[in-house]
Amino acid sequence: YSSAEITQELLARIKAQDSTYNSFITVSDEQAIAQANAADACRAAGNASPWTGVPMAHKDIFCTNGVLTTCGSKMLSNFIAPYDATIVDNFNQAGAVSLGKLNMDEFAMGSSNESSFYGPVKNPWDTERVPGGSSGGSAAAVAARLVPGATASDTGGSIRQPAAFCGLTGLKPTYGRVSRYGMIAYASSLDQAGTITRNAEDSAMMLNVMAGFDAKDSTSVQRDVPDYTASLNDSIEGMTIGLPKEYFSDALSADMQQQVRNAIAEYEKMGAKVKEISLPNTHLAIPAYYVIAPSECSANLSRMDGVRFGYRCEDPKDIEDLYKRSRGEGFGNEVKRRIMIGAYALSAGFYDAYYKKAQQVRRLIKNDFVSAFNDVDIIMSPVTPTPAFKFGENANDPVAMYLEDIFTIALNLAGLPGMSVPCGQVNGLPVGLQLIGNYFDEARLLNAGHQFQ
Ligand code: GLN
Repeated sequence: YSSAEITQELLARIKAQDSTYNSFITVSDEQAIAQANAADACRAAGNASPWTGVPMAHKDIFCTNGVLTTCGSKMLSNFIAPYDATIVDNFNQAGAVSLGKLNMDEFAMGSSNESSFYGPVKNPWDTERVPGGSSGGSAAAVAARLVPGATASDTGGSIRQPAAFCGLTGLKPTYGRVSRYGMIAYASSLDQAGTITRNAEDSAMMLNVMAGFDAKDSTSVQRDVPDYTASLNDSIEGMTIGLPKEYFSDALSADMQQQVRNAIAEYEKMGAKVKEISLPNTHLAIPAYYVIAPSECSANLSRMDGVRFGYRCEDPKDIEDLYKRSRGEGFGNEVKRRIMIGAYALSAGFYDAYYKKAQQVRRLIKNDFVSAFNDVDIIMSPVTPTPAFKFGENANDPVAMYLEDIFTIALNLAGLPGMSVPCGQVNGLPVGLQLIGNYFDEARLLNAGHQFQ
């Protein structure tokens, strides 16, 4: 098949099926067909690379030149980005075909995709259930076979949790591995771009395009990028797997435990060794995150003021009224809640008690991982405490929603890479196994994921 034929087929599937899932905010028909035709011409001329003409789609957190970029918010519902995010540019340069922009929780705040201004995304496994969040559109589109792979972002679990809920593979690279330039900032010290795909091999192909130093992102790291597909078939004989006892507590149902333990037993059959470890500050991860992430978001979102770009209220009386009503009308409830928490935590008199303390706790959490990796090569755990929950189940209880991220958040605080790999089902719903690697050890995660699949 030509890229144009495959692209047409996928666009037709999106048209026919996405009214059920709501995974796309924008479908870029014309641009996709133009890219596919250019790719076919390139192939005919003998200039094809592995990505020439391959369809994919971007989470709507990534700026796309000339294409609506909403971040799931009314605030940016009229924002046509004037430039491409570095990773968007990377895929364009590689010859990929972008089918459009994927739905997400507003400004990536959420675990269920219920906070999107564009409405909830349905889980293709059971449309009464959430697809996870915040990259729920990326996960649902891949699970529904509307697109083979999608970009996504992960601040506290937003790649791994939706991948787990939709039976997919999600990779959150090491902080600094992938450029954040043009990825709309939520919590800058935690945000990292990554992938949601059907398997580890596709993730490796995507990471090959995305990874690398970018002078436009001061936190991106200058370090060689390996070919992530080269080590997929390495043997895992002798690999030491750490199982953190804090991640296998009674909070996890027996059914969930069983699926994860079965997966680990498979690794033992392949020659891996298992060792129990302890990450003693695990219980502090959610409290520290819910001070740090809102603090950073309150600063980052101050640029949405109704003046320079984005939503502006009707007929403002004066500048004060313009700011207040534009932000009051443009942001949804979850975003407002976080801005208020963050502004409070950062305010004079409370800064030392909350923000500074949270940063100190963050260092303890990081140190737990650093010492664990002296003894093990990889850490394994569940991704979520339960399979996909129903719409509304956690929607009115923010703390219950925050607790959903109990197994994914700590490694964002530490900056480590993490991956979610499908490992069975509970009550007919998919469950994920989390692989946590040492800094810049994405190749090992992809290798371990591929060997299991
Ligand atoms: N659910 C978490 C939050 O709401 C994580 C979101 C994310 O990783 N972007 O902040």
